Amino acid sequence: MKTVSKLENLFTVINETADLIAKECQLSYIEAVAETGENLFHGSILQEDLSEITKKNLKRKYDSINLSTFEKEEIRKAFQIVILKGLKEGAHPNHQMTPDTIGLFLGYLVEKFVGNQKTLTILDPAVGTGNLLTTILNYLSKIETLESYGVDVDDLLIKLAYINANLQEHPIQFFNQDSLSRLLVDPVDVTVCDLPVGYYPNDVEASNYQLKAMEGHSYSHHLFIEQSIKHTKENGYLFFIVPNSLFETKEAPKLNQYLKEVAIIQGFIQLPLSLFKDEKHGKSILILQKRGSESKQPKQALLAQLPKFSNITAMNAMMKQIDQWFSENK
Ligand code: SAM
Repeated sequence: MKTVSKLENLFTVINETADLIAKECQLSYIEAVAETGENLFHGSILQEDLSEITKKNLKRKYDSINLSTFEKEEIRKAFQIVILKGLKEGAHPNHQMTPDTIGLFLGYLVEKFVGNQKTLTILDPAVGTGNLLTTILNYLSKIETLESYGVDVDDLLIKLAYINANLQEHPIQFFNQDSLSRLLVDPVDVTVCDLPVGYYPNDVEASNYQLKAMEGHSYSHHLFIEQSIKHTKENGYLFFIVPNSLFETKEAPKLNQYLKEVAIIQGFIQLPLSLFKDEKHGKSILILQKRGSESKQPKQALLAQLPKFSNITAMNAMMKQIDQWFSENK
């Protein structure tokens, strides 16, 4: 007989309660995931207009689990699955979540660069569902004091992020706004961001950036890089998920010149193409250090092409190469 794991149990409870709420409150599944997450966090049913029978059914399902017995990673993973299901159902086609295969690798890199610090401030200016940021926070559990900030323009995604953070007990400060407008976050030690790629429609706001396009709309991913550097401390590190073609477009020379002035490129690591539906949309991790009195140019930037995450032997060999790079350059 197949035994049901704790994680599956939690997934089933979130999934089934979201279905019940979606049906009765006429919400999309993903909106109902946010509602049921709130209920779980508050330990009560917050939707007043539900029928008594639905309230009873919900309570029975919530009572079947004890959240305090779950690890942060178990809660994040269960939420990741329901959110993925919700996003796939397509009510919100533009919404994306960073998968934890990428998040875990980024967590490893962040730890390698700054893991010996006791306190750390970290910002994700396109926090979305919070999956990337909380994967990294869970990975950095050895750091004693972690202060984190998440910004997103999408109110549903940021609601999911804040529920995710509450359930995992991460005291993240969230801002629901356009990250390219004025951002009230003091410079941080580390910025991480799965950049939104495309054109930024607000030319007035874009005109405040050095990386604005000479004509037409600017690339939002370029403006995000500039804004992130502005909100990172001198000598601090930035980890971006960027299109593979970042340095090949017609705006690239300007980006290159700007980066030379304000930052040091520490690495460019191509993610396995198998992670992306279309090779044209392949992505890489760009690692920068903001220039400052202690910033240091590596002998050579960390350049690598990652094998499939499932290929353990090749992945171990890659980790060894990366460790080697660290021993020679850090
Ligand atoms: N890392 C996120 C996660 O794990 O869910 C996913 C990030 S997704 C690739 C990019 C995010 O950028 C989306 O959540 C989108 O709403 C957000 N975004 C796009 N333009 C924005 C802007 N101008 N200001 C703030 N957020 C923005």
